This record gives sequence, structure tokens and C-alpha cells, in this order.
Amino acid sequence: MKPALQTHGLGVRFGAFQAVNDVHLSLEPGARQALIGPNGAGKTTLINLLTGVIKPTAGRIEMDGQDITAFTADRRARMGLARTFQINTLFPSLTPLLSVVLAISEREGLGAVWWRPLTRHTALFDEAHALLGRLKLDALADVPVAELAYGKQRLLEIALAMAAKPRILLLDEPAAGVPEDESGELFEAIAELPQDISVLFIEHDMKLVFRFSRRISVLVAGQILTEGTPAEIGVDPRVREVYLGH
Ligand code: ADP
Repeated sequence: MKPALQTHGLGVRFGAFQAVNDVHLSLEPGARQALIGPNGAGKTTLINLLTGVIKPTAGRIEMDGQDITAFTADRRARMGLARTFQINTLFPSLTPLLSVVLAISEREGLGAVWWRPLTRHTALFDEAHALLGRLKLDALADVPVAELAYGKQRLLEIALAMAAKPRILLLDEPAAGVPEDESGELFEAIAELPQDISVLFIEHDMKLVFRFSRRISVLVAGQILTEGTPAEIGVDPRVREVYLGH
């Protein structure tokens, strides 16, 4: 089977600074893959390259074998590439239910949904409830976002990305700022997303990385240092050196 997402010699320079360099990254269908590396390694830049927010200065990106390097971020999103951000992008006064309804209506290109026939509304709300249920947010569907625990807000951001019906989901530090007692639950929900969705996530907490990823790619100074299963990465002396010092 072709990788869901694959890069070939991908790189980007900012002036004289090579932020991402000769990256060959492969995301298999159904992957739960972690992208780890020290601060400034280029992880977010790599996600920005994959989503099309920034253009590479070298290399190619393929989705299901199709070259998407020249495609805009919008076009990639329409093809099923979704992402979340490190920062909270939610509307605090909306409820989770309405947030998801809006995200679904955006996917459907419905614009203002409110004047649609009632049958359309019902389908939209049913889908929104199902999505919230999948992420165990259904009991909080009508609570304003601002009143949700931070871990639940991050979960809602994943629900909004899921509303686009992605085939590939790129999560930039989904647990950033989430207290430790909520982050396990957050990653359990990620692990339980439909198995046909390929997930690549940036995460700093090694306990979460080793518990929830099936593959790990290690980025150091813009380059993939190594890649493998958690068992392989856990005993790789080069990775230990990067994380534990010299
Ligand atoms: P990480 O996510 O691994 O912490 P980043 O991708 O945020 O790393 O950043 C990698 C490096 O690229 C950093 O040194 C950062 O300062 C630099 N960088 C990122 N975006 C730009 C930009 N638009 N212009 C110049 N330098 C940038």
C-alpha cells in the first residue's frame, strides 16, 4: 500500500538558515506516528510544509502517491489533510456542539447554515453529536467552550479537525498546556480515532510518545536523525544522546 503521506528530500531555507533539510518522512495508512526532537529542530516548520502553509525550497511531498508539492493549503485540506495548532483556536463563547456544526457546515460549503431546511439541520446536528460522542465530549456538548477543562478544549480542537473528514491528521502538540492527569485521556482519544486515519503528532512528553505511538521519527537540526518503533527508538544511543546530553 502507498504511504498516506511521503516526503522526498524535503527542505526549506529561511535566508541562510536551513530549517528543514533533506527530510524523507513516510506516514503509513492508519499510522499513529510521533514526530519528536529538541526545541527548534524544525517540527512545526515540517508540519507547515506538509499542510502547504509554507513552500519548500527543495524536495517533494506526495499524498497517496500523488505529488502535492505545488498544491495550496486549501486544496490539500480538501484532499483530506487536516491539522491542529499548538495554540488554542476555539471561540470561547460557542458551545462544542455549535463549534462542530459550524466546522461541518464549512466542510459542506454550506456557508450560513441557519436558513437551510430543517432536515439539513437534523443531519448536521446528528453528525456533530456523533463526532462529539466519538471524542467523549457528548456530555459537554452544550457547555460554553470557556468553561471546559483545558484538556477538553484540546479534544474539541481535534473534533473540529475531524469534522473535515480527514484521511490524514497532523497534530502540533495536542497536549501542550494540558495538565498531566488529562493528557493521557486526550491521547487515548487520539489512539481510538478511526483506524483508516493516519495521524502524525508532535509531542514532548516521552511517556505519552512511547505509550501512544507505533512509530517515532526523530528530527534534529532540521534532519531526520532516525525513525523506528518505540522499542527501537528507546534504545537508540543517538536519541539518548540528544535527549540526555553528552
Ligand atoms: P520546533 O517546532 O521543532 O521547535 P520550529 O519549526 O518552530 O521548531 O523552528 C525551527 C527553526 O526554524 C527555529 O530556529 C525557528 O526560529 C526557525 N524558523 C521557523 N520559522 C521561521 C521563519 N518563518 N523565518 C525564519 N526562521 C524560522
